[in-house]
Amino acid sequence: MTSCAIVRCPDYGMDNLRQAIIRIIESTDFPAVKGKTVLIKPNILSDAPPEKAITTDARAVEALVAILKERGAGRIIIGDSPATQVARLQPRASGFMEMAERQGIELADFRERNRMHAIDGIDVPMASALDEAAIVISFAKAKTHQLMSATGAVKNMFGTIPGLSKSPMHLRYREPVSFARFLMKLYDECHVDYAFLDAVIAMEGQGPGSGTPRHAGLMIGSASGYAVDRAEGIIMGYDSTPLIETAEKLRPGISEASYPLLRPEDLIIPGYRRIESGKKDTFRTLVLGSVRNLFRRPSSRRPRPSFDAGKCRACSRCVSICPAKALRIESGHIAFTKRRCIRCYCCHEVCPFDAINV
Ligand code: SF4
Ligand code: SF4
Repeated sequence: MTSCAIVRCPDYGMDNLRQAIIRIIESTDFPAVKGKTVLIKPNILSDAPPEKAITTDARAVEALVAILKERGAGRIIIGDSPATQVARLQPRASGFMEMAERQGIELADFRERNRMHAIDGIDVPMASALDEAAIVISFAKAKTHQLMSATGAVKNMFGTIPGLSKSPMHLRYREPVSFARFLMKLYDECHVDYAFLDAVIAMEGQGPGSGTPRHAGLMIGSASGYAVDRAEGIIMGYDSTPLIETAEKLRPGISEASYPLLRPEDLIIPGYRRIESGKKDTFRTLVLGSVRNLFRRPSSRRPRPSFDAGKCRACSRCVSICPAKALRIESGHIAFTKRRCIRCYCCHEVCPFDAINV
């Protein structure tokens, strides 16, 4: 059985990060990296400072980079493509750019270099760095997620689809279960060798872009991204999440793991502010999901977003990402055509001014 290592890591001090990651690596099936090209895919949802807990912490990725170098890794690439990316990737505020320069490693721009993959009968552009790397590592951030209840190692690889090219996937896979099925196929296509989860500071409440940082003091790692995500869900206090419930129905046992160090059941964070909305549809949509997709009807059980005119600065980020073309800027204000909304919550994910509520 795959092993999943959970260790305590009280803060982002380099010594603590280093000890945590080495302990994880030594307790699990970490791949040999000597002489190989390694791609690390952190979550850089938007270029936000680390204290907001929106991104995988660049210091945690830097600790891993140093360890990979010590183990003889050849070329090391890090990369992501935020959903609203329209220009060259330059994540300065989150610390990734400076870290890449300091470590002398490559920051790949998935928008500039990608190729089509056939997934589920459609052509999906994905980062060319996936083809160049012999070892692929998902380094996710522990966060709540409006549609999927939690975002972790598997969902993190959605970022290998460049920028706004993600939007049609939201239009096609509108329900948590159908989106989970797509994420599983995408994860297969990425051939991920190992997954880490940065849960030193996690995000609770209105994740993944507008939630509240919550100290969890944990780092998780496994060769199975599903095992990592299952542990994350348990620690957050979920009975299950749409991703794990769907994955277990389709491939029984996929998220099971042994825990050689700490057990997730012993680490449940009291009062963690979760998002249950996606989970309510799980069983029904597993049966009816494909029929609903045919008729393009979103679940009416999930709420639509609402817009706070006082906070909105008419930056248009939500307008560009909305797959249903339900948003526009009119006379300097956000305008919302409710009947078009498919409740994908992409707008909520990308608003930098906390002007969208779900
Ligand atoms: S308004 Fe927001 S939730 Fe509705 S379809 Fe557009 S991006 Fe998705
Ligand atoms: S709601 Fe947010 S993302 Fe949309 S235009 Fe206003 S400030 Fe920008």
